[in-house]
Amino acid sequence: MHSGSPLLPLSHELDPFASPEAFDPGLQDFLHQASDLLCHWLAEASGRSPLPLVRRQPDIAPGLIGADSRQLLSDLQLVMEGAFQPSHPGALAHLDPPPLTASIAAELICAGLNNNLLAEELSPGLSDLERQLCRWFALRLGLPDSGGGVLASGGTLSNLMGLLVARDRLPEQDRQQGVVICSADAHVSLLKSTRVMGLPADGLQQLPVDDAGCMPPALLEQALRGLEQAGRPCIAVVATAGTTVRGAVDPLVAMAAVCRRHNVWLHVDAAIGGVFALAGTTAPLMDGIGLADSITLNPQKLLGITKASSLLLLSDLSLLKGTFATGLPYMDTAVGDHHGGEAGLQGTRPAEILKLWLGLRQLGESGIQQLLQAALDRRNSVCRRLNAEQFDVLSGNLHLLAVRPSDLQGADSDLWCETTRRTLLQQGFMLSRPHYERGHCLKAVFGNPHTSEEHLARLSDLINSSVER
Ligand SMILES: *Cc1c(COP(=O)(O)O)cnc(C)c1O
Repeated sequence: MHSGSPLLPLSHELDPFASPEAFDPGLQDFLHQASDLLCHWLAEASGRSPLPLVRRQPDIAPGLIGADSRQLLSDLQLVMEGAFQPSHPGALAHLDPPPLTASIAAELICAGLNNNLLAEELSPGLSDLERQLCRWFALRLGLPDSGGGVLASGGTLSNLMGLLVARDRLPEQDRQQGVVICSADAHVSLLKSTRVMGLPADGLQQLPVDDAGCMPPALLEQALRGLEQAGRPCIAVVATAGTTVRGAVDPLVAMAAVCRRHNVWLHVDAAIGGVFALAGTTAPLMDGIGLADSITLNPQKLLGITKASSLLLLSDLSLLKGTFATGLPYMDTAVGDHHGGEAGLQGTRPAEILKLWLGLRQLGESGIQQLLQAALDRRNSVCRRLNAEQFDVLSGNLHLLAVRPSDLQGADSDLWCETTRRTLLQQGFMLSRPHYERGHCLKAVFGNPHTSEEHLARLSDLINSSVER
C-alpha cells in the first residue's frame, strides 16, 4: 500500500448492488475512498516518473469469496501505481493528455447510470444529448444543415465507419474493387479499415508527402485520373488534418476542390486537428474542414476528455442509416431519427457523450481557446529553442513536432534517438520514437497543460546538448 493513501477503516458494508430504497452509506464510503485514492494519485504525479519504475502484479482471478471494500481499494491502488501517468508535466510522448476533471466525474456518473446508447428506451436523455452535441460539432466545423454525427469508441472506428458510408455511395458492383487514397503520413487505422473492408491489397493508395508533410493536390489529381483511366472506382480521398508524427495538415480547401471535380467522397481524418476548428483564433488552421463529406475528430486527444471520445461527423447525417440501420426488432421505435445502435458499428455502448458534454461545459469557449492556443505556444517555444543548425525539426502547424540531428544518418541517427530518449526519461521527459521516412526520430506532443515554460527550456537544453559539435 502506498504511504500517502488515506485508507481509513470503513464503517459500512459494501453491498454488490446499491439499495434502490434507501441511501447506501457503504457505497458512499467506497466511492469517497476510491476518489481519494485517485486524487492522491493525481497529486503525486510530478513527484514520480511518467512511467512506473516497478509494476507489481495484482491477483488476477476472483477469490473464492468476494473481496471486501478494503481489499478492493488496495487492489485498485496496486494497479494505479503501475499505470502510465499522463498528468506528469514531462508526459509528452503521445496524444494522451491528463484527464479533464469534469470528464472524470462524468465518467463516474456514466457508470452509475449504466444507460445504453444502443436504443432510445435505454438512454432517453443521453441519446438526445448525443444527437444534439454531435450536431453542434457539425455546424461549428462548417458542415451544412443536413450535418450531424455519432460517437464512436476511438478514431479508428470513426475512420472505418466514415469509409463504410463512403463506399455505400458507389454502385454495388464497384464496391469491392474500390480504392481509398491518403498520404504516406496518414494514420495506420486507414490500413486497418481497408483490410477489414475486404479491399484488395492495393485498396489503400498512399501518396508521397511534400517537405512539409502534406499531400500535394497535384498528386491527388494525378492519382484520381489514373484510377479513372484504369477503371477503378475511388471510395474516398482521406485528408489528414494533423498527421500523427509531425502534426501536418493536408491542404483541405484544395483537396476538396479536386474531390468535387472528380465527384469523390472527402473524408477528413481530423482525429488530432479537428478540435482546433472549435476556437476562433485557431480555426484558420482547419480552413476548409467544413467542405468534407465526413470527419473524424477525437476529443480524447488534445481536449483531455477521458477515453474513449471520438466523433464521426457527416455532412449528410441521414447516410448513416443507409449503411448501419438494420431495424432493432426487440426495441421500441426511436423517437429521433435513429437508434444509437443503428448509427454505427457498435451495438451496446456507454454514454461517452456525457463526459464530452460536461468537459466542454467546464472549459467554456474561452477555456477551449486557451487550451488550444497554449498547446501551440508550447510547441513554438521548443521550436524556437532547438538549435536549427544541428537538428531537422519536422513539424506542421499543430502542437507536435519530431526532431533528429541533421548530420547523423542511418544507424547513428537511430542510436541517437534511443540514447536520447532514455536520457530524457531519466530527467522526467517522456518522448516517443516513431519511425518516419529514413529512420527514427524523437517526437513530442505538447498537449499537456502542466508542462511549463521552465520544463520546455530544460527539455530543449537537454536535446540541444545531446549532440556533440
Ligand atoms: C489517433 C489517431 C487516429 C486513431 O484514433 P484512435 O482513437 O487511437 O483509434 C486516427 N487518425 C489519426 C490522425 C490519429 O492521430
